[in-house]
Amino acid sequence: MDDLATYAENTWCPGCGNFGILSAFKRAVRRLETDGMRRQDVAITAGIGCHAKTFDYLNLSGFYSLHGRSMATAQGMKLANPRLKVVAFAGDGDAYGEGIAHMVFAAKRNADITVIVHNNGIYGLTTGQYTPTSAKGFKGPSTPDGSVEDPFNPLALMLSAGATFVARGYPGRIDHLTDLFARAISHEGFSLVDVLQPCVSFNNTYERYNASVVELGETPESFEEALAVAGRTDGVPIGVLRDVSKPTFHQEMLGGRNPAEERASVAHRREAVAAALRQ
Ligand code: SF4
Repeated sequence: MDDLATYAENTWCPGCGNFGILSAFKRAVRRLETDGMRRQDVAITAGIGCHAKTFDYLNLSGFYSLHGRSMATAQGMKLANPRLKVVAFAGDGDAYGEGIAHMVFAAKRNADITVIVHNNGIYGLTTGQYTPTSAKGFKGPSTPDGSVEDPFNPLALMLSAGATFVARGYPGRIDHLTDLFARAISHEGFSLVDVLQPCVSFNNTYERYNASVVELGETPESFEEALAVAGRTDGVPIGVLRDVSKPTFHQEMLGGRNPAEERASVAHRREAVAAALRQ
């Protein structure tokens, strides 16, 4: 029995890259459980889009967020209860379009959350409009003559924003993707796994990525080397580009405190409100 599954009917298109992401994520959770992580200490959130159905298909606690806001929601969850391992699922429109400010600031302050971006280069749920990672020339309902814009390089962007863990994966390499998810969730600090997710209905990239992804051997030693790997054009490198330690946002903000476990009593809160009103 798959105790990480829910009763929700799966409505992804057959062959969608999201299936591989869901499968790798479940494997990573199970692996981390065998290493001692408690399932009740994992919390998830998602934006809006095809990726967000992951939330419906996972039997884990969490909060279904808004378009582009899963990264902000995840930071709030972590600050409220630092014991949690918080994972935000996002689409590429979600993360690098509507939610780009949340991404940049979560990385800047080293918020201890994991962001998994289902990067398919389009808005799938609304039938294939272009996103910040669509290739130049991409034709869809909103760009019938082809997009005239160059795409974002999300890895370079997040490295520059200060992300302490940056990785890229591909659902066509499930074992590799599982490793990336497990490492990202274990990382203390902001972690991004940008996943090259083929959308078989509106941007089928299986053939392209099957022919071009290259697994990185070692993690680059310096920021400059990581940036150089992010910019490589001789194939599409997948693996960990950056993995460094730095104090996290909740440590800096709260020290060792856990607001969820140190809630003030009702009497104490009433007293505090009354005192504030007397001032
Ligand atoms: Fe997957 Fe694309 Fe179908 Fe959405 S539209 S479920 S991203 S294949």
